[in-house]
Amino acid sequence: MSATSYSRLRPGHWALRAALLACALFVSPRYAWAEPVVKLVAPRSPLRAGPGTDYVRTAILPPGIKLAVVERRGTWLKVRLAETLSAWVHEPLTEPLPKGTQPSRAKVTDISIGNYELGRRAVISVSAPVPYRTIQRVEPPELVLDLFQTALAHYGVREKPGPDFIHTVERHQVGTDWARITFGFKHHQQTGYDVYYQDQEHLVVDIRAPYRNGSLAGKRIVLDPGHGGTDRGAVGPTGLLEKEVNLDIALELAPLLRARGAEVILLREGDVGVAPSSAGKTEELSARREYSKQQAPDLFLSIHSNSVGVGSDPEQVRGTETYYWTQQSIAPAKLIQEALCRALGTENRYVSWRPFYVLRETDTPRVLVECAYMSNPAEEQLLAQQTFRQKAARGLFEGLSYFFATAAE
Ligand SMILES: [Zn+2]
Repeated sequence: MSATSYSRLRPGHWALRAALLACALFVSPRYAWAEPVVKLVAPRSPLRAGPGTDYVRTAILPPGIKLAVVERRGTWLKVRLAETLSAWVHEPLTEPLPKGTQPSRAKVTDISIGNYELGRRAVISVSAPVPYRTIQRVEPPELVLDLFQTALAHYGVREKPGPDFIHTVERHQVGTDWARITFGFKHHQQTGYDVYYQDQEHLVVDIRAPYRNGSLAGKRIVLDPGHGGTDRGAVGPTGLLEKEVNLDIALELAPLLRARGAEVILLREGDVGVAPSSAGKTEELSARREYSKQQAPDLFLSIHSNSVGVGSDPEQVRGTETYYWTQQSIAPAKLIQEALCRALGTENRYVSWRPFYVLRETDTPRVLVECAYMSNPAEEQLLAQQTFRQKAARGLFEGLSYFFATAAE
């Protein structure tokens, strides 16, 4: 190419680049430059669906992630995750960054799947820490990982041999700044997962292997007798204490499970809390959650007895309820509720989802039962009887046995 033709081409070349750049700025989410940007600084920053702690958490993010602020309400910041998606974070968990700072952006450069002691571990290499969330689905059974402010690069998934319960790993660019990785499973009942940054450039997804067999033998079950110590829980009309009822049912249940070879871990065996006695309620619940996670159980069951809220008639409200939060907890919740109502002869009120503190972790299926209403005079009388407590334990035992029998395909 001659010097003349080069110089003739050059202006056109730059004009083209300028046009492309203008176009990229226009369509790219980088218009966020003009917006204030904050960095997450707390060890765990929950993102929420709305501006307050009453709203559900949509993700828990590690420190270091930079997010554009699109709105502010009091001490709550609405931050952009993707062009079409935002979430709220509490301002004290963040630190403002100098004007002109860009939000975190990354490319996924590699996905490698290997093993860990409880199943398969996917390590996703990203060029910078970015926000993410997970969505668990039951039908079809899959785990979706959304990475925001992220683009997928061209690469393959590297897999080391191991248990083959993950049958597909699909990658998909949902929007310019929203990448999605979907793990599809062969088995129906998911048994737990955990997502966390190992360091600034590696996001880890631990996925537990399916239950090996349908027997209770060898299953590790954490039982959480609700309340205890200074936290009495509900109090019945004649003074029956919920913490005593819950503990007694758990103490009746443990030997039934152990007789079938299950390993049972009771979060308390007496009238005490798990945390030191000086601990507040949240500290106590957090201690129960952390301790139970360390046990890596096959299932977590929290045992409670109910009480009506303000404005409800305690004479009218009675029966049994079971709660779950994660999708993997629906099947055990339903089976436990059915078996419990059958054993107790109580009204089958409902199985429902609630983001209770001890149910929010994704490490294992987690279920919370409200055996009957302490606040109802007739049910308080029943809960006071040892035979009723034994029936409750029998119902829970049957529900758990049936769940494990059906969960292993
Ligand atoms: Zn309770």
